[in-house]
Amino acid sequence: MRILFATSEAVPFWKTGGLADVSRALPDALVARGHEVLIVHPYYRFLDDAGLPLEVGGYARIPWPGGAMTVRYLSTEEDGFRKGEAPTLFVDQPYYFDVEDPYGPTRFDRLAAGRRFALFCRAVVDRARAWGAELIHLNDWPTGLVPLYARIDRLPTPTLFSIHNMGYQGNFPPGLLPEIGVPSDFYRIDDGVEFYGTASFLKAGLSMSDRLSTVSPSYAREIQTPDFGAGFEGLLHSRRGDLHGILNGIDTRVWDPAADPAVPMNYDVDSLAAKELNRVELLRELGFDDRGPLFVVVSRLVEQKGIEFILDSLDALIGRGVRIAVLGSGDRRYEDALARAAEAFPRHVAAFFRFDEGLARRLYAGGDYFLMPSLYEPCGLGQMIAQRYGTPPIVRATGGLADTVEDGVTGFTFEEPTAEAFQEAVGRALWSWRGPDWNAMRRRCMRLDRSWRRSAAEYEALYDAILSGR
Ligand code: ADP
Repeated sequence: MRILFATSEAVPFWKTGGLADVSRALPDALVARGHEVLIVHPYYRFLDDAGLPLEVGGYARIPWPGGAMTVRYLSTEEDGFRKGEAPTLFVDQPYYFDVEDPYGPTRFDRLAAGRRFALFCRAVVDRARAWGAELIHLNDWPTGLVPLYARIDRLPTPTLFSIHNMGYQGNFPPGLLPEIGVPSDFYRIDDGVEFYGTASFLKAGLSMSDRLSTVSPSYAREIQTPDFGAGFEGLLHSRRGDLHGILNGIDTRVWDPAADPAVPMNYDVDSLAAKELNRVELLRELGFDDRGPLFVVVSRLVEQKGIEFILDSLDALIGRGVRIAVLGSGDRRYEDALARAAEAFPRHVAAFFRFDEGLARRLYAGGDYFLMPSLYEPCGLGQMIAQRYGTPPIVRATGGLADTVEDGVTGFTFEEPTAEAFQEAVGRALWSWRGPDWNAMRRRCMRLDRSWRRSAAEYEALYDAILSGR
């Protein structure tokens, strides 16, 4: 099959979260299964710093208000970028993609991100035609307008829209539409972009794509309910026959404690003693002594991730001798609260507010438990990475967390979204720490098959069904 995979972030180019990991691992896994996959990605100006070996892959005039917009395509394809990897085609338009924060509004322009990704979507339609894609795989709101432009530009190629997080919707004032060449009759409730008085990219993707998928079976069910549907539950429920839940994998080439160069001492399921050495090394790095269990957090610090439960539980955790290290960035209020805690309890709490791949890996490897008490979680990669590194996760049983962590077997789970329920699960983890089942649980975690092979086969079956009109 010839699949165009459109995404706003992909490892190793740009990453804010799990979407970037998926956008590397899934296309590569499909390539390994013999498919032709082309990743199409915006060329953000800051990618200049990455010094990628790119070639100019041509220019195109994209239909755009006021005539046409010229975009340039840059390609990793020509020189066989890296063996076994899906090639990437970048869409370059300096006026639209010269930004620090691609998803955010700029100081003076609330519509900037809308214009940016609208142009990206229309370029995707252009490339799908030129490349002869049989199917277009879309990901989250930045790609939501592709099926709309495909209708305008009369491209019949079928589309699959994957939901990685319903919390990000790309809703803009309807005044954006004339600026991006969307006729006003698309501003309608059924099968259009209208969403509570806004022009919503997510709405367009959800209502106009041929099929929908999301990244875990549990989340596929949850988003059909008001608590998780973020306003789209009705639409998703009515399309439930088209909605598929396929669990993400993790890239086991990239996340491998036996080969990870960022981990001081590599280890596998048969050499857990080496994991202990990483722990000791990490404790030293953090300035902690070795008298209690070490909890680690690697996460965006946003409400979704249940950071509140951790903050509300800090006193109780410290009282029970826990050491806790947090790596993440996000909301100021969480960063401030964690910074204060680290200052007040330097021997128990450490916090780092930056994106740091190396430290993340040392935390996954050296921690005793990984905390991920999310309010909602489409799939979650952190808990799967932690399992692979033999660090049992303590998670709220929601979405993909419920689908990947078995309570008392491959981690610990709690149901109620309260600090008390979180502490109860933590209590059970502390009880098991270094107890009779401790190493057995870590080994069970490490033995889980989280590779993309299985998930890629499920996507392949879904693509087949779409192409054969089933
Ligand atoms: P989300 O996509 O909602 O952010 P996931 O658990 O699906 O959550 O994916 C998070 C990914 O980002 C994981 O690979 C995690 O290791 C990584 N990550 C999150 N925050 C940081 C950080 N501050 N430094 C390094 N890696 C991070």
